[in-house]
Amino acid sequence: MKAIIWQGTNHVGVETVPDPTLLLPTDAIVRVTSTAICGSDLHLLDGYIPSMERGDILGHEFMGEVVEVGSDVKKVRVGERVIMPFNLACGVCDPCQRGMFSACDNSNPNHRMAEALYGATSASGLFGYSHLFGGYAGGQAQFVRVPFADVSCFAIESDLRDDQVLFLTDIFPTGYQAAENCGIMPGRDVVAVFGAGPVGQFALRSAQMLGAAEVIVVDRVPERLRLAEAAGARTINYEETDVLVALREATGGRGPDHVIDAVGLEAHGHGPGALLDTAEQKLRLSFDRITALRWAILSCAKGGTVSMPGVYGGLVDKLPLGAAFSKGLTLKMGQTHTHRYVRPLLGRIQEGEIDPSFVITHRAPLSKGPELYKTFREKHDGCIKVVLDPWA
Ligand code: NAD
Ligand code: ZN
Repeated sequence: MKAIIWQGTNHVGVETVPDPTLLLPTDAIVRVTSTAICGSDLHLLDGYIPSMERGDILGHEFMGEVVEVGSDVKKVRVGERVIMPFNLACGVCDPCQRGMFSACDNSNPNHRMAEALYGATSASGLFGYSHLFGGYAGGQAQFVRVPFADVSCFAIESDLRDDQVLFLTDIFPTGYQAAENCGIMPGRDVVAVFGAGPVGQFALRSAQMLGAAEVIVVDRVPERLRLAEAAGARTINYEETDVLVALREATGGRGPDHVIDAVGLEAHGHGPGALLDTAEQKLRLSFDRITALRWAILSCAKGGTVSMPGVYGGLVDKLPLGAAFSKGLTLKMGQTHTHRYVRPLLGRIQEGEIDPSFVITHRAPLSKGPELYKTFREKHDGCIKVVLDPWA
């Protein structure tokens, strides 16, 4: 089959690789019909997440049709149209039972690597996201092996198009959880969102669904700010103005009640990761790489929440913890517990409350994937979200 392969820092390519097979009786094989590129994939492209190996298949936002199931798969059937959360969860461990699927104890066989690197146990296994997160093959491919099939596969029976449900795999739940974590007081609270990428766009719309009185979106890419304005947000271009002053002025001096950091590691652009030689250097991220998070903490009103869907890894220095402490902020972060949100958000899509395809700017065959990784990274050509067709 054809798949997008990580070939080294800054290099991805389409290669022909063996089709996946069932490795465990709880696995399924899915024929992928749509697959997207995520901002998280850029951390892999840039080499910020250690433990990628040449030949790894990328991709964690995909959907398709079940073509084979293992002997212990009870619910999922061949022929079903399914979406899969980007994180893998066993469904039975204590964190899974409490709905904390991205903290699953059993889906990441390599969690000890994280202990060595971060001094902490890492999260669940992830599709297509390095050996640190389990070394699972991703879904930017024609077929994918889906572990824990009965927990991973959500059947989509309705006549919604792929592009309306595809983002239930990640960015819609991620934006939603980020907004939910703010504990928005409906009709009163102002929420600021740093980053108008795909995650920020869904965080904005989710904050509105949860009743935010106003949402202010900060970025520097005009097309992305325009898409946020179209949804009714006020916007700030941080290259044109002092963002902390502008946020204070927009909120009667108190600052936004809650702030979402939908930027993560590559604040101020991608690329320099390639210049760092060792895993140690890549992990030791410096001051200027956490601008958005610093701004989030510094701008947030007293007693507010700074919610961080943006991905961080390694050792992040110079965090203004004193400011967070003296304002009594709540910091919430982490990988999305995607499984928790699929059904309720599918309901919102079915009721016509939101059509997640609004975020797509580029559609192409899988073979064009490597070019589109670059377009998406550089934000050229108005690119906000790319969806690839593995069979075109
Ligand atoms: P993206 O790279 O397309 O978007 C990031 C945006 O941030 C860009 O538009 C960029 O211009 C903007 N930006 C850069 N520096 C900024 C700054 N200092 N202030 C304001 N804006 C700034 O990525 P995305 O797909 O939207 O993902 C955003 C983040 O969310 C990434 O870190 C990604 O890894 C993470 N993510 C997390 C989860 C999760 O489970 N928590 C899931 C999906 C994605
Ligand atoms: Zn993603």
